[in-house]
Amino acid sequence: MTGIHTGSDADIVVVGAGAAGLFAALSASEAIAIPSDTLRDERRTRLSICILDATKRPGLKILVSGGGRCNLTNARVEVDDFVTDAPRALKSVLGAFDHRSTREWFESKGLSTYEEPQGKVFPTSDDARDVLSTLIGACESAGISIHHECEVTDISLAKDGVFRIDSRGGTWRARSVILATGGRSLPKTGSMGAGFEIAARLGHTVTPQVPALVNVRLAPGGLTAELAGLTLPARLDVEYQPTSIEQRCGRKYAPVSSACGSVLVTHDGLTGPAALDISGAVGHGIRRSEKPLVVADFWSLARPTSAWPEFANSDKAPGACVPPSEAPSPTTFDTFLADVRSLAGASAIVTTLTRVLPKSLVSRILERATVDGRKPASTAPEGEWRKIYALTCHSPLPAIGTGGYDKAEVTDGGILLGELDRRTLESTRVPGLLACGEVVNVTGRLGGFNFQWAWSSGFVAGTAARERLHGT
Ligand SMILES: Cc1cc2nc3c(=O)[nH]c(=O)nc-3n(C[C@H](O)[C@H](O)[C@H](O)COP(=O)(O)OP(=O)(O)OC[C@H]3O[C@@H](n4cnc5c(N)ncnc54)[C@H](O)[C@@H]3O)c2cc1C
Repeated sequence: MTGIHTGSDADIVVVGAGAAGLFAALSASEAIAIPSDTLRDERRTRLSICILDATKRPGLKILVSGGGRCNLTNARVEVDDFVTDAPRALKSVLGAFDHRSTREWFESKGLSTYEEPQGKVFPTSDDARDVLSTLIGACESAGISIHHECEVTDISLAKDGVFRIDSRGGTWRARSVILATGGRSLPKTGSMGAGFEIAARLGHTVTPQVPALVNVRLAPGGLTAELAGLTLPARLDVEYQPTSIEQRCGRKYAPVSSACGSVLVTHDGLTGPAALDISGAVGHGIRRSEKPLVVADFWSLARPTSAWPEFANSDKAPGACVPPSEAPSPTTFDTFLADVRSLAGASAIVTTLTRVLPKSLVSRILERATVDGRKPASTAPEGEWRKIYALTCHSPLPAIGTGGYDKAEVTDGGILLGELDRRTLESTRVPGLLACGEVVNVTGRLGGFNFQWAWSSGFVAGTAARERLHGT
């Protein structure tokens, strides 16, 4: 079933044996079909489907995902969990095979799953190898051949409508090709960006790529400098054009990117879910020489009436952000003042603030605001609270870089989704060419959303390739 080949003909060639490619091949073979799929017809001839992969083993990224546990989807997946050029097309694709279908399919293959409090879904075994072996086992049962060390170097469409696929393992001919080559992140897993170049040569617009879901590096001297090791909840906004506190608290405030969740301060910046979720916007800002500014609000999530303290009491920091639709707005001065007054009683300023914020951060804030924290909170003038408020809720942290592709979980950018048919993911430029997974310009936030995109888009592309060849 698997091995090195010298080239051959196939009805469908899938390029890339990652999550999206494996799922596309399975969908093309009808090994994955949702119960309402009325198009199944046992009399149809079986299509020959093969997957070409550059590496020695398929699905390497699945094995390292989720810290080896593979966060394979989320219990709640919405369009605003992603960044893309075509949100309506994204909605259509996610709706064709949703997170429930994902869990049902894996469970039907004997892989039970469970859900963490913030909705992240993992295999019950907590072992990513079980996810991969489920996919490989299904490919074997469906008669799909996987050819290793077949790095595809070019794809062209001949006049007779047959594709020629040149690979280091030989030349293939196919009636349909599904491009599932992933992005550029973690290149040692085989994702080196070749699909972007191939798609561009075939006439597609490919948006610039940056590493995403990666740590953010900050300019030295910001509020968080020298607080390495501190974990705390925060709202992080990315701005390319600096805004005032008033603008940020206004109804029209629209940062380039925003995330509310746990943050870990590192020796050179920030990591943790909220930092990872904004890293793509930071990367694009730096690529465009926009000098991106991260504005941190350490109050909005930590304040007493926020839902976050519930999470904070659990033994580990939540591994994903608050869903965008539930994220609190930037803290206004009135809210901040009302909170500190209700917390203060007869306490000193420092005691009041440490009821919400870590001690080391409070010391840094008071030092920078030049406020004596030993004073009773009730006697501090409004001017001093305003200085504390600005540093606590609108702390400017200029970003100077991100961790790069070696550390990034995904690549932000790729083939314009808007250039693919939203019902089939077939190219609007090259008939018979389809694309799915990370090679397409769709990037999810941390929490299983990128795999869900791989499953949904793999399903749509694979099903469409099959139906196209069956002429339905
Ligand atoms: C460390 C890490 C942890 C992650 N954890 C999670 C998680 O828990 N949950 C989540 O949702 N997402 C996670 N992700 C992201 C997720 O793994 C990816 O979004 C997803 O695997 C993308 O699937 P894909 O099939 O599109 O691409 P890939 O998995 O990158 O697969 C692409 C395949 O194409 C092959 N290929 C590339 N170029 C060629 C070529 N020219 N010829 C032939 N083959 C080629 C590669 O060898 C590779 O096998 C993580 C990523 C990383 C790096």
